This record gives sequence, C-alpha cells and structure tokens, in this order.
Amino acid sequence: MILTYHSIDDSGSVISVSPAQFRRHMEILAAKRIRVVPLTEVRDTPGAVALTFDDGYENFLTHAAPVLAEYGLPATVFPVSGYCGRDNGWPTQPAFVPRLPLMGWRALERVVAQGIGIGAHSATHPFLTRVPDEQVREELSGCRASLEARLGVTADTLVYPYGDSDARVRRLAAEVFRLACGTRLGFLSPGDHCFDLPRIDAYYVRDSRWFGRLFSRSGRSYVAMRRWVRGLRGGGSGGGI
Ligand SMILES: [Zn+2]
Repeated sequence: MILTYHSIDDSGSVISVSPAQFRRHMEILAAKRIRVVPLTEVRDTPGAVALTFDDGYENFLTHAAPVLAEYGLPATVFPVSGYCGRDNGWPTQPAFVPRLPLMGWRALERVVAQGIGIGAHSATHPFLTRVPDEQVREELSGCRASLEARLGVTADTLVYPYGDSDARVRRLAAEVFRLACGTRLGFLSPGDHCFDLPRIDAYYVRDSRWFGRLFSRSGRSYVAMRRWVRGLRGGGSGGGI
C-alpha cells in the first residue's frame, strides 16, 4: 500500500492532515507492526506500506520529519523543482487549495541528510496529459536533473501532478523513471502498471479509526466505497490534487 500525504497542518483543507493525526498514523503503523519500506521496495514486500509526500511543503520538516525519525521510518518527498522555496500557487492550482510555502533547496538538503528519499513531481505541476510530448519530456527530465544536481540524490521515481496520466504520458515517463504513481485510489496488486501505481490519500483516512482499519477487511471496503463515490462525482485518475 502506498500512502499519499501533502501538507501536515491544522487548517483542515483538502490537502491537509493535522500534525496530531499524522503522529497517530505513525503510532498505528508501529502498533500494528506494519513494515514501512522505501517506495522502490513496496511492490516486492507483501503487506508493506510506503509513505509519499507530494509537493514538498515546508511543514514536512517541522511536523513529519521528526516523527519519521523518531519511528525510524523511510519516506519519499516529491518536490516540484521549479517551485522550490516558493509556494504551491502554480497556474493550474484550483482556488479551493490553500497557498502554502514549499521547501527550498536548503530545507531539501536537510530532508536528504535525514535519509528521506527524493522523487520527481515535474518542474511546474501541469496537467501532463494536456501538454505536447516535448514539454512532457522537459517537465520530467528537467525535474529529475534539477533534483539530482542540487541534492546529489537519485530521483528515479515520479508522481504525476494531479495524478494525471494516460498511455502517452506513461510511455514518456518510462523513458526517464523506474516507476510512477498516480492518485488512483486503491491498494497495490500484482497486476498494476508500474507507471500508474495506485495510492491511498491519507486525507480520506485522516481520522485514526479509519486509518487503523486500512489494515483490515473493513478498510478495504471503505476504500472501495470512496473510490465508487469519487467515480460518481467524475473523479478517477484525473481527480487528484
Ligand atoms: Zn502535487
């Protein structure tokens, strides 16, 4: 199972999980002895969880990194390379999403020093299915190249902005990365396309009762139900933030 977090803050917005809820999630993983592994290993480790943090919010350093260090848990942060040190006000950002500061390169260096993985999330956070091939290549290769040059890491995994991908974008992503995740809500299964891995947005299970149930049969039906409701609303793979 791959879990998605965005911002760890108390605003209650659609991209926010509170610091207290986040800590509780990590406590539950520890209490249930769930293996938490790096994203690149999760498909080969049955029953394991990988933690992903989209966009690279500044509050990762204050509210997530210390808890991850305390529990000794791996995770991957996916910065938007052209917006490091700025805020999440890219042109395609919906108005209902709050503007929040993003980590700059210095902050990302501290993340790397803690052993947290870095992956790519494009250079400017566009809907990749709406831009031509050459621009998709620039968004993906440019992001990977900046992250690797500035941070001295290997950034060979990708999460699509808004979870937005199609066969063309996945083919272009496969030229640059070893795997990619969308925002399609679901548990991992052996038949998944490794350039469209499903994730579970922690926002849907931010209440610790639901988070705990992710690891039980009732959690699986809850996720199936949320996916069904999102489908009714016209969501799906393009329905992410
Ligand atoms: Zn994003």
